Amino acid sequence: MTRITVAKGDGIGPEIMDATLEIILAAGAKLEIDEIEVGEKVYLAGNTSGIASESWETIRRNKIFLKAPITTPQGGGYKSLNVTTRKFLGLYSNVRPCMSLHPFVSTKHPVMDIVIVRENEEDLYAGIEHQQTDEVIQCLKLISRPGCEKIVRYAFEYAKQQNRKKVTCFTKDNIMKQTDGLFHQVFDEIAKEYPEIENEHWIIDIGAAKMADTPEIFDVIVMPNLYGDVLSDVAAQITGSVGLAGSANIGEECSMFEAIHGSAPRRAGQNVANPSGLLQGAIMMLNHIGQTEIAEKVQNAWLKTLEDGIHTYDIFKDGTSKQKVGTKEFAKAVISNLGQKPTILKPVSYANNLALNLPKYIRKPAAKKELVGVDIFVHWSGSNPNELAEKLKRIESNGTKLTMITNRGIKVWPDGFKETFCTDHWRCRFKPSENSEINKSNIIELLKNALNENIDSIKTENLYSFDGKTAYSLGQGQ
Ligand code: NAD
Repeated sequence: MTRITVAKGDGIGPEIMDATLEIILAAGAKLEIDEIEVGEKVYLAGNTSGIASESWETIRRNKIFLKAPITTPQGGGYKSLNVTTRKFLGLYSNVRPCMSLHPFVSTKHPVMDIVIVRENEEDLYAGIEHQQTDEVIQCLKLISRPGCEKIVRYAFEYAKQQNRKKVTCFTKDNIMKQTDGLFHQVFDEIAKEYPEIENEHWIIDIGAAKMADTPEIFDVIVMPNLYGDVLSDVAAQITGSVGLAGSANIGEECSMFEAIHGSAPRRAGQNVANPSGLLQGAIMMLNHIGQTEIAEKVQNAWLKTLEDGIHTYDIFKDGTSKQKVGTKEFAKAVISNLGQKPTILKPVSYANNLALNLPKYIRKPAAKKELVGVDIFVHWSGSNPNELAEKLKRIESNGTKLTMITNRGIKVWPDGFKETFCTDHWRCRFKPSENSEINKSNIIELLKNALNENIDSIKTENLYSFDGKTAYSLGQGQ
């Protein structure tokens, strides 16, 4: 018996959760259920996080959380409960299998069977944003070595467990050489530990285009958070319906299982929603807690039901479908197929699944870190970078020299182009002059001088080298 936490959520949530629980309990899932309230009602009662503290206790005690979609009210500073839950509980891995069910569910991609493994905690989802000038707002993209190692290892371990042949990595490291560069580098390092699994890297733009055009050439695809968020919806949708895919959010201690779609408020309360996405989430949950036989039984009954042409409105098509059913009737049909296997679609077998081998992250020895310069960001509403350079030269402290000014990353001084459009947000790079070094006191000196010269410094970024390797980006055009 496993004790789990269940939240029925908003919109179509309660209907698809009832259907899902009915099916898995009828199949013999050994579960004790604690139900909690999350989402719209909790938000509108004045709790901006969408969840009460007692509910957190239940989730943390049970460790396994089956969650229906929730509605995040628009505006008003409501925080997305999904993002908060993933981050609070350290659910670093988001696994989203997207498989075509040809010829029973209409799709342009009959042989598609891919799994998107999305990093779930970092990247732009750190949600650290600041407006710094009248014209410019920044969002910090944070990518960490532990974050990359954990997700890439998860992807390879998952591929090994599921007997999959290839892991592909998508990044944009031709542009983000440091952040996406680290993700790619870690991918190459860890791939070497799995010589039996093919590996490859694609730049995300052409990779995404290929995935939407010829998904059959991919197997497992691992990627940073934002790319994974976007592409897993694309992948689910092109299998035939976003209502078919489930998602597992896995951490070292806790895990959360859900559908990938949202609460579809316009469909709520009409007994029309497809419960398949949440059911797929629940099947991943049963596998995760070791109830693999039940998971297998439910998945095969579900495949058989789709094969029988018993379809909800979102996948119903004259010709291929036989009967258009509501949420409840679909659940009943799956239950009546428990114990049966599909005859044309491939039945699943989960009984021999090996446990994933996911070692804890071990911190690497610290590298030799040297301060080699500083970028001072300045709010200035002038337009001629040469004028700004003249002002900045007056603040050079002992041993530091202005070497470059960029605007939105592109070098505008020295030798800028007059055609380059400039905002009021300038990155001004100071380096030690020849035969000298820079230290933190020099930086403080620079900032003091800026204050005296009425230069509006809005932030600084120290420039470092790690083990002698430059660890910051050059200016574009530098
Ligand atoms: P959505 O996924 O709810 O709906 C998109 C479209 O897909 C709609 O046309 C809907 O009718 C259809 N659809 C979705 N699930 C279906 C199902 N099971 N059966 C049949 N049709 C289905 O996306 P949205 O409209 O952008 O978002 C609605 C709300 O859901 C928003 O408040 C959003 O914040 C929330 N949301 C929650 C989650 C989550 O809780 N994990 C995820 C995404 C969106």
